[in-house]
Amino acid sequence: MNVPFLDLKVQYKQIEHEVLPMVTEAMTNGAFIGGPQVLGFEKEFAEFCDSKYCAGLNSGTDALRFALMAVGVGPGDEVITVPNTFIATTEAISQSGATPVFVDIDKRTYNMDPQKLEDFLKKRLKPQTSNLKPTLKAVIPVHLYGQPADMDLILDIAQTHNIKVIEDACQAHGALYNNRKVGSFGSVGCFSFYPGKNLGAYGEGGAIVTQDEEIANKIRMIRDHGQAKKYFHDMEGYNGRLDAIQAGVLRIKLRRLSDWNQSRRENAAYYNELLSKIEGITLPVEADFANSVYHLYVILVDDREGLQQFLSDKGIGTGLHYPLPLHLQKAYAHLGYKNGSFPVTESVAKKLISLPMFPELTREQIEYVAESIKEFINR
Ligand SMILES: *Cc1c(COP(=O)(O)O)cnc(C)c1O
Repeated sequence: MNVPFLDLKVQYKQIEHEVLPMVTEAMTNGAFIGGPQVLGFEKEFAEFCDSKYCAGLNSGTDALRFALMAVGVGPGDEVITVPNTFIATTEAISQSGATPVFVDIDKRTYNMDPQKLEDFLKKRLKPQTSNLKPTLKAVIPVHLYGQPADMDLILDIAQTHNIKVIEDACQAHGALYNNRKVGSFGSVGCFSFYPGKNLGAYGEGGAIVTQDEEIANKIRMIRDHGQAKKYFHDMEGYNGRLDAIQAGVLRIKLRRLSDWNQSRRENAAYYNELLSKIEGITLPVEADFANSVYHLYVILVDDREGLQQFLSDKGIGTGLHYPLPLHLQKAYAHLGYKNGSFPVTESVAKKLISLPMFPELTREQIEYVAESIKEFINR
C-alpha cells in the first residue's frame, strides 16, 4: 500500500466539473484580477469566519505583513510570537520593519503558552523609564496544526498591556475556539490558501478577516499599491491582490470545507484510537476550548528519524513541522537566542513527525500507517 503525506489529486476529481467551467468563463470574460469572483469570495469567507470584512490577498505571508502594517507596527517596534511556526510568521514581522521576539509554547498543545506571554510582558514592561517609547506593539498567536491557541487568555493579557493581537490562522480555516471561528478574535485574522492548506487555491492565495472597517480598507489599499482610486496613491503599497481564478476555486472549495474539516477530525479520531494502544508515542491533545481542523496530525516519538525512514520504506509519506525552531535558525542568529532559550519548543522539535492527513484518507490507509508504527516501535 502507498499512503502519500498529502493527496490533492483525489480532491480535484471531486470538483473538476465545477472548476473547469469556472476557469473557462474567466478566460472568456477576460476577468483575472479582482472583480465579482473576488468580491463574492470575500463576502462568503468573512461570513464563514464569523467576521465582518475580508480582503483577498496574494498569500498568507502578505496577510500577516499587511495586518501588522495596518495596525501601526513599524520600524523600531517588537512583535511577540512563538518559535515553533513557519518562518512566514516572523518574516512578516521583520518585513514590517519590526523585530520578532519569542515566548515558549505549552507542552500539551504546542501553541503559545499564555502564562509565558504574561511573564514576559511583566518582566519587559516594568522597569521602563517614563520617556522611553514602548516598543512591544503586537502579539501573533499561531493556531498551529489547525488547533486554536488559547485566545481568551491571550486577548486579556494583550489588552492589559495595550498590545494588538494578530492571529496567524494560516493552518486553521474553520477551527473553533469556544464555538467561534478563529480569525475573528484579534484585530486581524490571517489566512493562507497555499494549495496544501485546509482551504487551498490552485496557486498562491491568502486573505485577512477583521471586524474593523478601517483596517479592512487600509489593507485593501496596501494590497493595491496604496491606491485610494486608480492612479491616486495615498501611500506606497504592494502588489498583493488575489486572482479571480483563485477566488473562483476557493468559492467552490469553501462550500465543502466544513465537510472536509469534519473528515479530517474523523481521521484524527481514528488515528488516536489505533495509536493509543502503542507505548512510547505522544498523541496530539485537543484542548477543552478547541475544535481543531487537523491541518496536520503530529505525534512525538524519540527516534523520529528512524520512524520517518521506516515509514518511507513502507511507502508512507511524512513531514516535519518544524525540525529546527526559528530562534535557532541561521536567519535569526542576530536576535541573540541560543540553545536552551525555549526548552519546550526545542524538545518538541526533536521528536515531532507529521503523519499523512487529508480529508480523503481511507480507514485502510490509517490502519496501515498505525500498523507500521506499531511494527517500528516493537522491532
Ligand atoms: C502557510 C503558512 C504561512 C504563510 O502562508 P503563504 O500563503 O505560504 O505565504 C504563514 N504561517 C503559517 C503558520 C503557515 O502555515
